[in-house]
Amino acid sequence: MDKKEILKEFSSDPDRYYNVKLFQEQGFVRKACSKCGRFFWTLNAGRELCPDDADDTYSFIGEPPTTKRFDYTQAWKQVEEFFVKNHHTSVSRYPVVCRWRDDLFFTIASVVDFQRVMGSKVVFEFPANPLVVPQTCLRFKDLENVGVTGRHFSSFCMIGQHSVPDLGGYWKDECVDLDFRLLTNQFGIKKEEVVFVEDVWAGGGSFGPSLEYFVRGLELGNAVFTEFQGELGEHTTLDQRVIDMGAGLERFAWITMGTPTAYDCCFGPVNQILFEKIGIDSDSEILRKYFTEIAKEIDHFDDLNEVRHLAVKNAGITDDQLNKMITPLEGMYLIADHLRTLIFAITDGALPSNVGGGYNLRMMLRRINGTINRLDLKLNIDELIDAHIDYLKDTYPELDEKREDVKQILKLESARYEESKVHMKKKAEKIRERGVPSVDELITLYESDGITPEYLKEVDAISEIPSSFYSKLSDLHQSEKKKAIAELPLEELPETETLFYKDDPMEFDAKVLKVFDDQVVLDRTSFYARGGGQEPDFGSIAGFNVINVDKHADIIVHQLEGGVPKEGDTVSCKLDETRRANITKNHTSTHIINASSRGVLGSWVWQHSAFKDVDHARLDITHHSSLTDEQVKQIEDTANSMVKQNLSVSIDYYDRGTAEQKYGFRIYQGGVVPVKSVRIVSIEDQDIEACGGTHVKKTGDIELIKITKTKRIQDGVVRIEFVSGPTAFQYVKDQQEESKKQAEEKIAKQTLEKQREENKQKAREQIPILLEKILCDESGELDEITVKNKICFTASEQYDDYFHQNFGKKLVTKDSKAAFCGIFESGPTVRIMVHAGEESGVNSGEVAKEIASILGGSGGGDAKFAQGGGKDTSKKDEAIVKAKSMILG
Ligand SMILES: [Zn+2]
Ligand SMILES: [Zn+2]
Repeated sequence: MDKKEILKEFSSDPDRYYNVKLFQEQGFVRKACSKCGRFFWTLNAGRELCPDDADDTYSFIGEPPTTKRFDYTQAWKQVEEFFVKNHHTSVSRYPVVCRWRDDLFFTIASVVDFQRVMGSKVVFEFPANPLVVPQTCLRFKDLENVGVTGRHFSSFCMIGQHSVPDLGGYWKDECVDLDFRLLTNQFGIKKEEVVFVEDVWAGGGSFGPSLEYFVRGLELGNAVFTEFQGELGEHTTLDQRVIDMGAGLERFAWITMGTPTAYDCCFGPVNQILFEKIGIDSDSEILRKYFTEIAKEIDHFDDLNEVRHLAVKNAGITDDQLNKMITPLEGMYLIADHLRTLIFAITDGALPSNVGGGYNLRMMLRRINGTINRLDLKLNIDELIDAHIDYLKDTYPELDEKREDVKQILKLESARYEESKVHMKKKAEKIRERGVPSVDELITLYESDGITPEYLKEVDAISEIPSSFYSKLSDLHQSEKKKAIAELPLEELPETETLFYKDDPMEFDAKVLKVFDDQVVLDRTSFYARGGGQEPDFGSIAGFNVINVDKHADIIVHQLEGGVPKEGDTVSCKLDETRRANITKNHTSTHIINASSRGVLGSWVWQHSAFKDVDHARLDITHHSSLTDEQVKQIEDTANSMVKQNLSVSIDYYDRGTAEQKYGFRIYQGGVVPVKSVRIVSIEDQDIEACGGTHVKKTGDIELIKITKTKRIQDGVVRIEFVSGPTAFQYVKDQQEESKKQAEEKIAKQTLEKQREENKQKAREQIPILLEKILCDESGELDEITVKNKICFTASEQYDDYFHQNFGKKLVTKDSKAAFCGIFESGPTVRIMVHAGEESGVNSGEVAKEIASILGGSGGGDAKFAQGGGKDTSKKDEAIVKAKSMILG
């Protein structure tokens, strides 16, 4: 939808769309900006320009228009006090990790808190009406601006003011009146300073007029009146009109403080620590001048670097001042901002990684580390984390609880960054030789090698970071996780009655509603359809085997083998009870393993995905490192202690909003639930999840859980494979047998080893005596060796390859007329080894080849030494006879 067209339409009828009661009562006049033409409302009849174009833009820096001064946390207290006084419910913030939407990794606006996706529709669910919420929002698109522009943050607090007029809330008149009184009465801004600009909002198929409110060029808030749906001209009024007023808390603090940047009044004690470290006084005229220039010019250029150069020029800043003041200051603001964002994200269960939203978090920590190195700062990150949390905990007490987790994760990530530096350095050198990389190349470098452009800049491999780098990277990782569902001819079929959510009979009758190919739809079924990582039930329908069950929207489709019943028939159905029981045990075990992993490892553990089959199951959890044997044992022990306690597993249905308020977003371990009534599976108070699977009634039914394997399958995700119930007992039995077998094998190997050692020792004693006798021309049988004129043959079992090798070699070395041939068994093969002196008349190679071929194998070597063998032991005697005749004649 074209926003410009909608704005044109709405602005052509201002009385209908924009002229609220307040404007009439106070005597606001409507003006068109003489520069850009936009319409705005003001009490100052002489005003000709809109806030973006006027001369007073950012003139609050150094000269705030309020008599009162409020920093960040104080500003929220003012806002909250005002709205509560005016009959709003103050709601706690929602997590910044957006667990209730599968198209967003992070919460990007306060209204997102209350949006739930149902099919292709977005519906609103408000826990109170009207309400106000201090919603922390994460946005990574403008990362390059953070620390530089004075007003861009990677996370900010959106003051969300929401009202549904048709459910007892208010509409435009009261909204604008409240916002005006918030600015003037509560914050003490003069009425004449407030300017409202006409605008529109459109998205997700709906749209409506909006009024942005500005004070001295700073947009403080935007009241959106979502009123219509459809295409402009053919639009209709929404069933549920909604007020979505979003205002930046950081800006409210800034306008009252008038500091050079918004950062100066929003990070509390963190700034003081950082200012001391770099030795800069933020309260300086140069900074005020510089940042006012930046603020005024930022929207007029595409390239941030150009804005910086211009501001440097206009503020009269020298190169020395730029390097000694501005650059370290920008780095300092960046560190404070990024650290605050990481604290919120990790508190809410996110981990820096290479996947999903974790990308942005890792990128931010690397930017922090890169900046610390570039500016050669000696910072204690733990101290900064403490300072942030101490400052924010009054508004956000949940940060205090996760303080140590945040420290642990950041320490680990920073150590990894340090480790990877050697590798990064080599890469950077190559880049420097090759010349300036493109934005795509920079993205590849980050994605495959974890090398940030900040690092490349730090080591002078590049001179500037391209301004499109972060927006491009962030676009790449906004991807959705939706899968296609096969189209089936299911139109007009009613929803299948799901017996597994009711009495769950193992045998039942049902009517065949539809048959196509080998697929059957019944009016009701107890066959669990594949879903939530749980494999389907098998069994029989009308005597035919059920080999698969899938769910398509509300209809369950059974795939049969060997034939299908007729449409309209009533058929008897039977489930494979053992299969169902085993899958069920594995499913409840998944919840148990999830809870015990979280308990053993830390609060960042969430279910990433899960799979439950009849004889095995796996749970992928979010965790930063591979598991140690000790951790695996602890998780297994904790899980089995939950089994031993025989805890009850209860299933209750709640209205979605109630479930979220009662249990929090932890319930969404298996992802988003697209239904209004949520099925909550609780293992007493140990684990509470929204889940559609089948579960045991008591944890004792599982009897035993065994973890069979764990593996770090990707950065930030660890896979735990396990078995439960009868499979676990079988596993233990197999393990015991395996270790028994291994012990036996070990003993057999040791015995063999000992035997060899003994043979060797015996050979060492025997060889010199035998040699002496043979070299003295003794013939006949000597220790089972047939000797004839120094030509020797043996097939005695008392000699092994050590003897043959050493005896034969020594013999022919001492006398060139001598030869030795031995046949012996070695494992499954019969082997021959021949040594022959040059004047012996024996050709070792020929003998070995011939004998090996009798034995069904092959042999090789030369006239002096050859060996071979074969596996046909039945030919051993034949081989002996042949060898003997070839050697001894
Ligand atoms: Zn204008
Ligand atoms: Zn589940």
